[in-house]
Amino acid sequence: MGSSPDIVVLGHHGCGTSIVRVHHIPVAGETITAWDSQHVKDGGKGSHQAIVISRLGGNSAFIGKIGSDEMSEASREWLVEDKVNIRHLLRSDLKMPKAGLIMMDDNGVNTIVSSKGVRNTLTFEEVRPCIEDFKSAKMFITGFEIPEKTALASAKLAKELGMFVILNPAPAPEEPMGVLDYVDVIIPNETEAKSIVGIDLHAEIDPIEVAKKIREMYKVGVVIITMGGSGVFGYDGRDSWSLPPVPVDVVNTTGAGDAFIGSFSWALFNGKSIPEAMQWGNYYAALSVTRAGTITSFPYLDEVEAFIK
Ligand code: ATP
Repeated sequence: MGSSPDIVVLGHHGCGTSIVRVHHIPVAGETITAWDSQHVKDGGKGSHQAIVISRLGGNSAFIGKIGSDEMSEASREWLVEDKVNIRHLLRSDLKMPKAGLIMMDDNGVNTIVSSKGVRNTLTFEEVRPCIEDFKSAKMFITGFEIPEKTALASAKLAKELGMFVILNPAPAPEEPMGVLDYVDVIIPNETEAKSIVGIDLHAEIDPIEVAKKIREMYKVGVVIITMGGSGVFGYDGRDSWSLPPVPVDVVNTTGAGDAFIGSFSWALFNGKSIPEAMQWGNYYAALSVTRAGTITSFPYLDEVEAFIK
């Protein structure tokens, strides 16, 4: 665990999701028995990105807040195992971790319950000294699984401290974001991209039109839109890049966005150009969707290199 990280991620770290398999989804008041149940390692967008960077050999730190219960303690160990710098992993007195419950029935119907947990309590006042302590870092990544105000004020501070700022506006913000001229690269998925510029989510629209609107409205540097099984698109105001998906046998796409953002950032930090880093991220994320789970699906450097060859 290095004392001064190169890439700092501010976000959310949860403590897993329970998946129970049931013959039917219970109705109110009914008690049934699950025929299978498992608790899977699942953090948050922020901690996933920090883990991806670390698995690629990068020196990453994660700033976030966890609870004071046993499950939070266990999830803290996942970050330790992955050598993520957690000097500023804050603790809440709340014993309310963000654990999710997914019920899957015999017809493949999912019912998902997630709780807000301690992530909603993270304030800029708490985070400021943590970012200042990491002021020699070169890159800063954040998103909206923590309060939007905290994420945006922190991104601004990171920029003032000289860091390269990457914003993942996910989940799509509920409040207007204002001008984001301190953001170097914004990376929404297709839905978030449309949402932040007020385009109907069902509208068929060329990604370059969406990217142009985002640049115009928010004054950000580069726009990268991840498009799931359709690849990824980037635009910097002059050039645009449209990368087709890497063909793979898909097992589980959960966490693909985090895989892309972490690996893209790591590649950019290591001197690759925007389109080269996008291509790296495209390969990394494609390999991750061939594997089950989220944290368990993120490949290590040698695995990606072998996959790309
Ligand atoms: P999540 O919220 O589950 O983390 P996301 O919606 O943020 O995902 P996506 O746009 O679904 O992110 O995917 C991110 C990237 O992962 C894509 O741009 C692409 O590079 C890769 N990817 C996702 N799905 C596939 C697929 N079916 N085949 C190949 N690559 C994929």
